[in-house]
Amino acid sequence: MYMPILEIDLNKLRDNAFVEKTLLQKQGVEVMAVNKVFDGCIETARAVMEGGINVIAESRTYNLKKIRETGCTTCLLRSPCLSEIEDVVRYADISLNSEPPVLRALAAEAVRQKKTHQVLLMIDMGDLREGIWFEDYPQILETVRLIEELPGLALYGMGTNFNCYGTVLPTVKNGEDFIAIVKRVESDTGSKVRRLSAGNCTSYHLIDKGLWPQALNHLRIGGLHQFGIEYVDMKYLDEFHHSTKAVGRASSDLYRFYAEIIELNSKPTVPVGELGVDAFLQPKTFEDHGTRKRALLAFGRQDVPAENCVPQDDAITMLGQTSDHTLIDIEDSAQSLKVGDTVCFELDYTGLLMACQTRGVALRFIR
Ligand SMILES: *Cc1c(COP(=O)(O)O)cnc(C)c1O
Repeated sequence: MYMPILEIDLNKLRDNAFVEKTLLQKQGVEVMAVNKVFDGCIETARAVMEGGINVIAESRTYNLKKIRETGCTTCLLRSPCLSEIEDVVRYADISLNSEPPVLRALAAEAVRQKKTHQVLLMIDMGDLREGIWFEDYPQILETVRLIEELPGLALYGMGTNFNCYGTVLPTVKNGEDFIAIVKRVESDTGSKVRRLSAGNCTSYHLIDKGLWPQALNHLRIGGLHQFGIEYVDMKYLDEFHHSTKAVGRASSDLYRFYAEIIELNSKPTVPVGELGVDAFLQPKTFEDHGTRKRALLAFGRQDVPAENCVPQDDAITMLGQTSDHTLIDIEDSAQSLKVGDTVCFELDYTGLLMACQTRGVALRFIR
């Protein structure tokens, strides 16, 4: 039975992971590969491992359970829920944490399972998502001491995150402020913090510019090897495989999405009749471009949002979408498309995220 297809180029993904690991290694930075956009896909986890990265992170515990069969070291990329502690200890070697009640529960369960669970203690340097607030040093120190004292836990490192909720950029300033906090913890506890995990793919701009604060020695990265984009200045990095589309579209040809044409004809560009709201209860306005050739595709918003699809053929434009149909304008395309043909799109991060987690898209791999 028909499904639109998401094709992932595992060779390019592996190459990009290798390049990323090598570039970061030169700066003394260890990397953990973030697989969450692929929603627990084993093949993509394997591809980055073939590229040389052995620690793989997911934000859902059930995805760690899946990717464990690759033999990777697993990291839960957000704080465990108190309701899933047993599974977190079972399936995650490492987790990101900031809450003492969660740490106590993890410790008790790790003892029960005769394991040592590694904790990456998160500090919020201003982006306002997870982590102990950077100005609350007593709480930071107390929590590090708690991790050291609790049986069954070990401090994997201290971490921070940027550009997620608050759009805060990683800078030399907040990087050095983070280092200062860690140094103070080290001098107050007398023990070394092994990893200073400075952020996600957006931190790469500091390495690219030669501004990297040397003491930062760890990153958690997905978007860099997945797209080959430096996200602060929005540019392609030529060391990586990346799209040939305008960088502002933020898509990649590592991810090709194919959907079938189910209707093809010429229709007016302005609807005929009294206008109300669309399938999502939104009012709309239409510009009159006369009658144009268009195609109806068999996928919709419940699969991948149209704004996250970039047509491979630059002459094709997106017209709109309902939950189960996508409309494209093909008037200017040189292809002689017909009903039953497939149209190909590159996907951006959100498009990839949605395509990987819907039941309505089939996966295909290039390897
Ligand atoms: C998603 C996430 C990352 C990785 O982000 P990318 O943009 O894919 O590099 C790193 N750290 C945390 C805490 C995250 O949630």
